[in-house]
Amino acid sequence: MQTSFITASMLYNLTSCEHRLYLDTFGDPTQRGEPNAFMQLLWEKGSLFEKEVITALEQPFLDLSPYYGDEKESRTLEAIEQGVPLIYSGRLSVNNLLGEPDLLRKEDTGYIAGDIKSGSGEEGDTDSGKLKKSYAVQLSLYTDILERLTLSPGRWGFIWDIHGKEVRYDFAQPQSSRTPQTWWELYQSYHQRAHDILEQHHRTKSAYSSGTCKLCHWYQPCLLDLQRRYDLTLLPELGRTKRDALNTHFSTIQEFASADPFTLTHGKKTDIPGMGTGTLLKLHARAQLVSAGDQGRPYLREALSLPKQASEIFFDIEVDPLRDHTYLHGFIERRDQDNATEQFVAFFADQPTPETEQAAFAQSMAYLHDHPSSKIYYYSKYERTLYRKLQAKYPDVCTAEDIESLFDPERSIDLYFDVVLKATEWPTRDYSIKTLAKYLGFIWRDTHPSGAASIEWFHRWVESGDQEIKQRILDYNEDDCRATRVLLDGIRQLPIRASSTEA
Ligand code: SF4
Repeated sequence: MQTSFITASMLYNLTSCEHRLYLDTFGDPTQRGEPNAFMQLLWEKGSLFEKEVITALEQPFLDLSPYYGDEKESRTLEAIEQGVPLIYSGRLSVNNLLGEPDLLRKEDTGYIAGDIKSGSGEEGDTDSGKLKKSYAVQLSLYTDILERLTLSPGRWGFIWDIHGKEVRYDFAQPQSSRTPQTWWELYQSYHQRAHDILEQHHRTKSAYSSGTCKLCHWYQPCLLDLQRRYDLTLLPELGRTKRDALNTHFSTIQEFASADPFTLTHGKKTDIPGMGTGTLLKLHARAQLVSAGDQGRPYLREALSLPKQASEIFFDIEVDPLRDHTYLHGFIERRDQDNATEQFVAFFADQPTPETEQAAFAQSMAYLHDHPSSKIYYYSKYERTLYRKLQAKYPDVCTAEDIESLFDPERSIDLYFDVVLKATEWPTRDYSIKTLAKYLGFIWRDTHPSGAASIEWFHRWVESGDQEIKQRILDYNEDDCRATRVLLDGIRQLPIRASSTEA
């Protein structure tokens, strides 16, 4: 018996979590949380952007947005029959597939589908050439429907993106030089997985992923379920794929922790599909640490020489990806490791304009230039990536070499990649700055601190000019900078401990 249609948004969700598709379809709606404010904002901005693009469109098109359901579909088919060159907000279905592409455009021998997206059409920067998986599976579904209705001229689609660019999605192409599977084959695998979930032929399980789960409306029930099952994804850097591979031998963190991992190793290889000995031993040590409960204490896997400079700067930026706007550069300065000397310095681009963004970037670079002997600490590669991007956008502010020397390890330390990941172990479920600083006792003044929340506050600040909201953004950023300092001090105190399962 057919349960329901497979839609583009189902495939979109499937690219981040298969369990979400199951819960959205079969889960108890009373357990479902409110939509996350940031996700809501994303949705609103997406709809607004789509309207702006359509309003400004200079070519003729048929607008089917006022219609719904069967009427929308019959009007779409009618328009195709008449050969309308461009159809906005149509609807098509065939077999168990249902799609509502933003655009259907007539080509020589049929129609191709496109979507309007309020983000970049490619991964990372424009012209990266890397297509987005979540967009590819959606466009493929529309194309599949067109193909089954014998309306498709070929397997490709397009995105009109935030930069005003049309990005072609050619589904016959391999995903990358390292992934020979084509986009169409990828789509087929997602289509099959969606079908199996909806028909309940495939059982899904929650899997913890810090970035994805915290924004999901099933977060609370999933977290309870994960904790009840002592699920292996509650170990840092252990996601669904590794969990499923380890589940062939161990169901829980405790089972894994109490096993002898060397019974599964053969030189550099192991009996766990896709997992080498180094990774298995590292995860096993992590399982032991987490399952030790209150006895589990963080430690260094190897000796670290962290500099003790007289002046330290802890640095964090806030970026609105929806506007492609860096709105805040925050710094905590400290002298002689004395917290009483701490000072917060911030450069706020308080309007989403290139002028304010450039001015804040210039002030920030001047400030750092004025502190040549300070050691700079930041958390993740994001700051460096963004500064390279800002330099390319505003070359009058500084040179590319200035940015490279700013982020040279002699001058700056990425506490996440170069220290936490490389040399430390923590009895926590992830290594985000929030998780680790909270573990060390640091408390954010805001009750709901997160980067996503800050973006939503910035949006509200721009709309309202409310000074309280601006202060909330500044306080949050200051606390993030201070949390980086707390983490550095915490790491300096950690004992060195070689893992008991070291190869
Ligand atoms: S909370 Fe996480 S595991 Fe649960 S459905 Fe959402 S993304 Fe999936």
